[in-house]
Amino acid sequence: METKIGLEIHCQLTGVKSKLFCSCSCDYRGKGANANVCPTCAGLPGTLPLLNRKAVECAGMISLALGCKIPDEIAFYRKNYFYPDLPKNFQLTQYNAYGITSIGVEGKLEYGDGGSKSTRIRRVQLEEDPGRLVYEGGSMETSIYTLIDYNRAGVPLVEIVTEPDFSDPKDVRLFLDKVTSIIEHLEVCDTKLEGSVRCDANVSVGGGGNRVEIKNVSSFADVEKALRYEITRQRTMASRDIEVKAETRHWDDARKVTKESRTKEEEQDYRYFPEPDIPAVVLGSEFSSSVMQLMPELPDARKDRFVLDYDLSAHVAQVLINNKELADFFESALKTYHSPKEIANWIVTDLMGFMNEKEERLFEGLKIGPEHVAELAKLVDQNVINRATAKQILGQIVKTGEMPSSVAKKTRASMIDDAGALAQAIDSVFQSEKAAVQDARRNPNAANFLLGKVMQLTRGRADPKAALELIQKKLSEPSS
Ligand SMILES: [Zn+2]
Repeated sequence: METKIGLEIHCQLTGVKSKLFCSCSCDYRGKGANANVCPTCAGLPGTLPLLNRKAVECAGMISLALGCKIPDEIAFYRKNYFYPDLPKNFQLTQYNAYGITSIGVEGKLEYGDGGSKSTRIRRVQLEEDPGRLVYEGGSMETSIYTLIDYNRAGVPLVEIVTEPDFSDPKDVRLFLDKVTSIIEHLEVCDTKLEGSVRCDANVSVGGGGNRVEIKNVSSFADVEKALRYEITRQRTMASRDIEVKAETRHWDDARKVTKESRTKEEEQDYRYFPEPDIPAVVLGSEFSSSVMQLMPELPDARKDRFVLDYDLSAHVAQVLINNKELADFFESALKTYHSPKEIANWIVTDLMGFMNEKEERLFEGLKIGPEHVAELAKLVDQNVINRATAKQILGQIVKTGEMPSSVAKKTRASMIDDAGALAQAIDSVFQSEKAAVQDARRNPNAANFLLGKVMQLTRGRADPKAALELIQKKLSEPSS
């Protein structure tokens, strides 16, 4: 049975500081209820909306990054519905039924390994977020009343609508990861903030099957789970000849099921009509090129640069850029100590093992920063500690935040500090590594190899600094 999945992704433009049609702050998290509200976003009669230029630019950036065309002119429509989260009883959004008015159309995004898959983007539109309904006790079913917080009403929202090009929930996950990385790189949306990205998914199974919309999926990671559940549900129904109703279902995160919430509205129920208080916005032909100039480096270009400039494998580069925080961490470590392959290796093969499984909270609970990993790589490069010791140290410092060098010192409490014993070990290495000694007399960098041998011989108990000094002193003496 053929499965078709389409997505509607909402991302708040948290990079824009004020609301879409008034100057109220968008930063509502942790604020008192209804603290960021003015007559415009409260929907009082007689107020007029004023479009936020920065929000249009950010939506333009997202459109271009998703390969969309930007029309010369955009407009806003009223989507009418009576619901307490909308103080005006309509939402200002964009609508393409009577000609293109949305900021982006007809895009395409490649994703997956080396861009092996692609999905068409139907449109990118700019709209206002509704207010937030707060259920007493936290649950819609058991709450006896509902509180409304209009702080979120009017926060600029970009909706990305894809064509139903997906058939596998796993691809949906890869696509969402890529979108996340793009909007993080554009710095238009902080995806780590709770509720800043939401995803609805349309699913139909079998050619004639009705479309079911899954709403209320609060994390991209859960979209894949919700889709798997829904596909199984619809297939089971089809195999028993039960008709799948066109409806909206909510994802119940606690029970990991989708459940019926209401019969889906038809488009005509919304009675769309052009917003009379906002004239059409003429962007002109230069808008795209000027927005293009504002755009920072995007994930694909960054990946290519990592491969080219840092000589990383395509796989390692991809793992790093999948999450902007990780890629930034890597490049920041390089500023402390420039050893790209070594540092990338530490991050991808070792550090990620300690990270939070929830991708949007990678570093949660970890006490280390780029400087820790840079120092760890340096200690290994310089043979001060071996890889096995470094791994143990990493396991400790992710919890304590201590610098690797200080842990290395402490764990070598029984370090050889007796100059005689150290000299003896060095003598022995000079005896057994004659060729390397010759080499090191001509090339001072080769002394590190000898240091490594001394560390090996003393099982890491020698003080590397003192040992290196002694080695260098011995190298400068005339050879006997
Ligand atoms: Zn306002």
